[in-house]
Order: sequence, then C-alpha cells, then structure tokens
Amino acid sequence: MTSDAGVVVIGGGQAAFSAVSTLRASGYDGPVTVFAAEPHLPYQRPPLSKKAHTDPDGVRVQLAPESFYRERDIALRLGEDVVALDTAARTVVTASGARLPYAHLVLATGARNRPLPVPGAELDGVHALRSLDDALAIGRALTTAREVVVVGGGFIGLELAQVARARGARVTVVELADRLLSRAVSPQLQEQLRERHERSGVRVLTGTAVHAIEGTDRVRQVVTDRGTLPAGLVVYGIGAVPRDELARDAGLAVDDGVVVDEWLRSVSDPRISAVGDCARHPHPHAEGLVRLESVQNATDQGASVGRRIAGTSTPYGSLPWFWSDQGDIKLQIVGLRSPSDEVLLVPGDSPERLAAHAFRDGRLVAVETLNWPAEHLAARRLLERRTPVHVDDLAGTTLGALARARRAAEVRT
Ligand code: NAP
Repeated sequence: MTSDAGVVVIGGGQAAFSAVSTLRASGYDGPVTVFAAEPHLPYQRPPLSKKAHTDPDGVRVQLAPESFYRERDIALRLGEDVVALDTAARTVVTASGARLPYAHLVLATGARNRPLPVPGAELDGVHALRSLDDALAIGRALTTAREVVVVGGGFIGLELAQVARARGARVTVVELADRLLSRAVSPQLQEQLRERHERSGVRVLTGTAVHAIEGTDRVRQVVTDRGTLPAGLVVYGIGAVPRDELARDAGLAVDDGVVVDEWLRSVSDPRISAVGDCARHPHPHAEGLVRLESVQNATDQGASVGRRIAGTSTPYGSLPWFWSDQGDIKLQIVGLRSPSDEVLLVPGDSPERLAAHAFRDGRLVAVETLNWPAEHLAARRLLERRTPVHVDDLAGTTLGALARARRAAEVRT
C-alpha cells in the first residue's frame, strides 16, 4: 500500500460510488474514504421516482452490499457531514471536528432540491423527492391519498404523476412554464408528451402558479391562479441547485457548480476534483461550460476521476444521455440540444414511437425519442463515433435505417 494520504470523497451517491469503485478496479492501493451525509449505503436515485416506493428497506436500490466496500478497503463514513475544507493543509473537517488529510479530494456532493416558496409547504402531506427516505414517505402516502397534486412538470413531477396514476389516484400536474419539461425537451416533443400524459388520465395545468398550500394538520388543498385543487398529497419537483458551498467557502471557483477543467480538476486547485451534479465543466459536445444532472454524467465522471487518480486517463468527454420512464412513456435523450437548433420530428413505424432530431448548422447534435429505444441506440452509436449526419441524410428515413445502410456500405467496401 502507498504511504500517501489517500483519496477522500465527499458524497455518497452514484458519482462517489463510481469514483471509488473505479479507483480500486484501476489498481489504486492508497487509503480511500467516503463521507456521506445519509445513513444508507450508496444507492441509485433513478428508481426513486419510478418504482422504489414499495421497497421498504431500500436494499434493491443499493449500488453494492456492505461487503463490497469491506473487501476493497474503502472506508465508508455514513451519516458524517464534512463541514469545511482546509485546502492549505489538505484536510477535510467533519461536523464533529475530526480532521482527515487527503492527497486527492473528490467533491461528489450532488444537488439539493429547490424549496417550494409558498405558504403551507411545510404541512404534513407535502413532499419533495431526493432521498430514499423521501421516496418511502411518498410511497406510504400514496396508499391513502386519492387526490394528488404534483407541482413541477419536470422529470420528478412527470415520473411521480404516473406512479400516482398507477396507484389509482386522481393526479393534477401544475407547471409554471407554458410547457412540460420546457428546458429539457424540444417544444415539438413537449406537445406529444402532454398529450400522452393527458391520455393516461393526468390533468396538466401549464402556465399556472401555486400560491399556497392549505390545511390544518395536514394538506387539504392547493391554491393556484387557476383555482383551488383538493389534495391529500402534494409532491413537488421544481428543480435542483448544486451543493457547491464547501468549495465556495474554501475559496475555489464556483459558478452554479464547482468550476473544473477537462480533467474534472478544480480550476483553483488541481488536487481537488468535482464530479456529477455539482460540477460545471467543459464538454466537447457543448459550447462553453455545462453542468449536467444525470446518472450517466455522474457515473462516467466518477470513473474518469478514479482512472486519473489511479494513473490512466484521458480528458472527460462522454456523450451525454438521459432517460425518463413516465408510466408507459419512455423518454430518451442523447446529445445536448440548444434552443436555436433546428428540430425535425420523425414518426416511427407505430403510433407510440416518435423522434425529434436536432441539427446545428445542418449536422445532427441530439436526438429525443418517445418509446423508440432502437432509434435512441442508433443515435448514440452515430453521435459517439462522431459520424456526421446531415439533415438531408434523414429525408424520409430513420437513424436506425441510416446506420444500417452505412454499415452495409462499409462491409461492401
Ligand atoms: P426539473 O426536471 O428541472 O423540472 C422542474 C420543473 O419545475 C421545470 O419544468 C420548472 O420550470 C418547473 N418549476 C419551477 N418552479 C416552479 C413552480 N414554482 N411551480 C411549478 N413549476 C415550477 O427538476 P426536477 O423534476 O425537480 O428534478 C430534480 C432533479 O432530479 C433534476 O436534476 C433531474 O434531472 C433529476 N431527475 C432526473 C430524472 C431522470 O433523468 N429520469 C428523474 C427524476 C429526477 P422551469 O424550467 O421553467 O423553471
């Protein structure tokens, strides 16, 4: 074992897990310590808004059992908050005043939910969703709630709206913007999404503000500028903000996330890396710096930093992709679209399949699909290989067919 002070990781999510498991898999043999504020073993968050509500002990969402960490000599300090970084002394300070030195520090602190800024948001029966405990509380509330109001038509809101529908509740989604998923998805697909949610029985109110949540002991109704909605349960998902205050307080560059270079090192201190939701980074598929909130980004960035610290690495540049299961609706996104891109809607060979292909300067940069995994995969392969696809290449065809035709042509030559 090396005699260095080792790697300290702050955060117990997907990015942290990926960093420490990759460190060991890549042969790093110095000390590795993970500080995680939650008491649970690191777990996956994507199932929390989809189907984890019936998993009472959370075991099915665990990323690995306790033995995984023991066998790899990874010290897990669960339920222990790091409250300060001493970058001069290369030490982290915990809430109990303990100090631990590091040779490399990895910030994998994630993001926190935006609080709902209305009176009554603290009433019983009003929930945000981020942690396993939140998901279990929502699951319990869904056993009795007949009227559910979802505030925010983003990923959390739309996934939970369908979970509540499947449990037989009457569901209303209240979204402030004029469209659902207004930042994440092209306007062309947003209309389709809305139609599909409404077809499943979810009532969708866009362009609608929530003013208050009312009730005595617990929530009874939600006051909006379109009237009052009865509610036995309110769930809100109105966005997230990066947890970057440790870095800011330590004097590191922060700008809606810890600012890092293409190796995911803080631009202020190369011994500190940031990965996942809390990192703002350059990306070959983006113009300028981006901060991405996705499991793919967390996993790939954690692995990238793990490999770098272990001694083998290339700059970070994984192709971004996302997915969201909203009841029967499977939304998949690959690449990074900007609002000025040209979008072409392409129907699939059955009515539920649809794709939105986004082009910049005539070249394919991103693809969104509804219930069409094959088109998503074809897009991923083409974008990963940086194979140029021009808007004219797609006249009257699909990416899947185009990829097949190109492969056949390669075999012939
Ligand atoms: P989100 O996807 O950013 O959606 C938040 C939505 O709430 C936006 O449409 C936003 O509109 C709207 N909103 C903001 N303020 C509002 C208000 N006062 N009243 C009503 N609507 C309001 O965020 P999220 O759903 O809260 O999810 C949180 C995080 O979890 C995100 O990082 C998300 O990516 C992640 N997550 C991902 C998945 C997935 O990838 N499948 C699933 C669940 C969660 P504006 O855009 O106009 O502000």
